[in-house]
Amino acid sequence: MEIRSDKKYRVVHNPWDKTERDVEAEEISHSLADTGGIESQSVIRQVACHCGCIKPPGGFCSSCQGIICVDCFARCDGCSRPVGPCCDNLIQDENLRTIRLCKECSNTLKRRNASKSFLRLISHPFVLLISLFIQIEE
Ligand SMILES: [Zn+2]
Ligand SMILES: [Zn+2]
Ligand SMILES: [Zn+2]
Repeated sequence: MEIRSDKKYRVVHNPWDKTERDVEAEEISHSLADTGGIESQSVIRQVACHCGCIKPPGGFCSSCQGIICVDCFARCDGCSRPVGPCCDNLIQDENLRTIRLCKECSNTLKRRNASKSFLRLISHPFVLLISLFIQIEE
C-alpha cells in the first residue's frame, strides 16, 4: 500500500520563448511492506539533450532552441550566440584556423564570399570580356 509519493522535476527555461522544459524528473514512492516496514522506491528520469547526449544541459542552441549538453555547448565565433552541433558550421579561415559559425553567420559569410568573387570578376576586364562574350553567345 502506497502511503506517500514525491515527485521532483528539474526544468530549464528557454530564454527565447520562456517555456519550461523538463530535463530531469524524479519519482519517489513510499509504501508499507507486508513485513510491516516502509519501502521506498525512487526513479530518476533524465531527458536526453538535443545533441543526443545524456548529460547535464549546458544551454540552448540559438538557432533551433534545442537543449545542448555541457560538452557540446559552444558559441558562434561570429556573433557569440550559443550554438549546438545541430546548427553549427565548422569552416577554416585564411590562417587555417577552424572557426565555428552559427547558421546565420555562415550564410552571411557565404553571401559575402559570393559578392567578393563577383567583384574579382569585374576587376579583371579580360575575364569580364570573356563572360560578356559567353553571355552574348548563349
Ligand atoms: Zn552533447
Ligand atoms: Zn541547433
Ligand atoms: Zn553567429
